[in-house]
Amino acid sequence: MSTQVIEATERTRVRRHADRASYERERIYAILDEALICHLGFVFEGQPIVVPTMYARQGDWLYIHGAPASRMLRVASEAEVCIAVTLLDGLVLARSVFNHSMNYRSVVVLGRAQLITDTEEKMEAFQALVDHVVRGRWEEARHPTVKELKATKVLRLRLDQASAKLRQGPPTDPLQDQTLPIWAGEIPLRVGPMEPIEAPDLPVGIPVPDYARHYRRQVGAS
Ligand SMILES: Cc1cc2nc3c(=O)[nH]c(=O)nc-3n(C[C@H](O)[C@H](O)[C@H](O)COP(=O)(O)OP(=O)(O)OC[C@H]3O[C@@H](n4cnc5c(N)ncnc54)[C@H](O)[C@@H]3O)c2cc1C
Repeated sequence: MSTQVIEATERTRVRRHADRASYERERIYAILDEALICHLGFVFEGQPIVVPTMYARQGDWLYIHGAPASRMLRVASEAEVCIAVTLLDGLVLARSVFNHSMNYRSVVVLGRAQLITDTEEKMEAFQALVDHVVRGRWEEARHPTVKELKATKVLRLRLDQASAKLRQGPPTDPLQDQTLPIWAGEIPLRVGPMEPIEAPDLPVGIPVPDYARHYRRQVGAS
């Protein structure tokens, strides 16, 4: 069973504003479960490359998938990678330019990405990926065929080198700035759904499922 806290190492310890760091699994997992995309960093021929992609967490593993021909999947397979996930919660407007900031919850994961070859685990990863994006969709959608499974590469990364960093709250202007006649405060931001738009070729009579009509991200416990 995994420990409650992921031990910080020289590589994963947040230095600046260390008070904003957390290594608690519950907090890290809540951020990973709420966000939709990550940025995956790998080194290709000496050049660091960062690519946005989707992911899912299942237990103590993160899953990444894509076409076998994708450079990201080819290079990251059995290689050291870095994954960053960010939830932007707001803009922080201070009186001074210097103290402007952002409210956020972010996670950085380091580790070696492993290629999944076991068909059953690959299928479980697919389910995790689908349910991460739209909970309940796996139950309804047509499941992958053997051909589709072969046409997709899945990598997994164990969550044992990870950190979270969180900034919340108002701007922190120095005392001498606080009486300046300049507005200061926060502009909260949130990713939210709009009305679902049905596919133009959708047969008549198929209702919008509840998970699409009332779509919302699961809000983490951070
Ligand atoms: C939306 C957003 C905007 C930001 N804007 C700025 C900015 O403009 N300028 C700036 O300097 N910083 C910014 N940061 C913070 C930035 O992510 C780093 O935390 C910061 O650069 C300090 O890094 P460091 O030198 O202390 O640690 P580093 O030595 O760079 O990192 C050491 C280890 O700490 C962990 N770590 C570092 N940062 C994070 C993080 N954000 N989340 C989780 N783990 C982390 C990683 O494991 C990393 O390997 C922003 C963060 C977010 C999410």
